[in-house]
Amino acid sequence: MSVQVARHVGEVLDNLSSVTGATLLAGGTDLLVEINFGRARPATVVAIDRVAELKNLERNGRVRMGALVTYTRMLDDDPGSPALREAARTVGSPQIRNAGTLGGNLGTCSPAGDTLPVLAALDATIVLRSAKTERRLRFGEFMTGPKKSARRPDELIVAAEWDDAGPAQTFMKVGTRNAMVIAVAGLALVVDRARKRVGAGLGSCGPTIIRAAEAERFAEGLFADAGWERASRPSDAAAKEFGRLVAAAAKPIDDVRGTAAYRRHVLAVMGARALARVAAIA
Ligand SMILES: Cc1cc2nc3c(=O)[nH]c(=O)nc-3n(C[C@H](O)[C@H](O)[C@H](O)COP(=O)(O)OP(=O)(O)OC[C@H]3O[C@@H](n4cnc5c(N)ncnc54)[C@H](O)[C@@H]3O)c2cc1C
Repeated sequence: MSVQVARHVGEVLDNLSSVTGATLLAGGTDLLVEINFGRARPATVVAIDRVAELKNLERNGRVRMGALVTYTRMLDDDPGSPALREAARTVGSPQIRNAGTLGGNLGTCSPAGDTLPVLAALDATIVLRSAKTERRLRFGEFMTGPKKSARRPDELIVAAEWDDAGPAQTFMKVGTRNAMVIAVAGLALVVDRARKRVGAGLGSCGPTIIRAAEAERFAEGLFADAGWERASRPSDAAAKEFGRLVAAAAKPIDDVRGTAAYRRHVLAVMGARALARVAAIA
């Protein structure tokens, strides 16, 4: 296995365009598991962890998070999304959080990737660059299936961008234990009071991350009635209905981590709790 250590984005892009099958290595917390279990055997690995440009985190009305921002930095620096910080706190162990990156979560594109429901709820844009061009895809266009994305082999994920949506956000995850756990179900809820929009992203509940569109419209009606700028408290019936709509949007399966019925149940519970939590944050 040949390993190239890139220092600049240009070097990464040259390798991706000239070496067929070149595989990027960021924190290695997914890729090395694949290699160790014999599920991947790339002839050429391009290590990108020294590329400074990919570590930038900018916040100026719009947030731009470089692909190499780690979970630890999402916790220590202000990541421009409270839900993303909550999601980062649930990822792996301190060692995994020190090494694992946003770009690696997007590169693997698992329905259980914990940053992905947040990016969906934020309606984030994924920035992809090749030696020839740069393109931007909305998260819903980027993720196309379980561990499948619209990223072309010669493209580097450079960053994710989203509107700074304010503090009314949360992320919840249910697993079979409290730490070092793959989500049985996850939910990110973002209420952008200034732009009058609600985003709800569901993880581990379908082949891709799912946006619960009907639940979003229902919640937008509630916030419009309560006054978008004001903290409020949804009625128990409204919170329950929101949870029901969240669960109805899921396309879960039975697998080793949980049954489809259990996933729907926890989504309904998380939905009701998440709505009550974010409604109280002005
Ligand atoms: C013990 C353990 C616990 C874990 N717990 C969690 C958890 O709780 N939640 C969770 O979501 N994940 C978890 N993971 C999975 C993993 O840590 C994350 O998916 C992490 O974000 C991967 O980032 P990385 O930088 O290590 O990626 P890498 O392993 O370096 O790369 C992953 C994939 O993405 C590609 N890639 C990396 N960067 C880019 C880029 N910039 N452009 C294009 N492609 C790229 C690589 O080629 C590779 O295919 C865990 C893993 C382990 C080993």
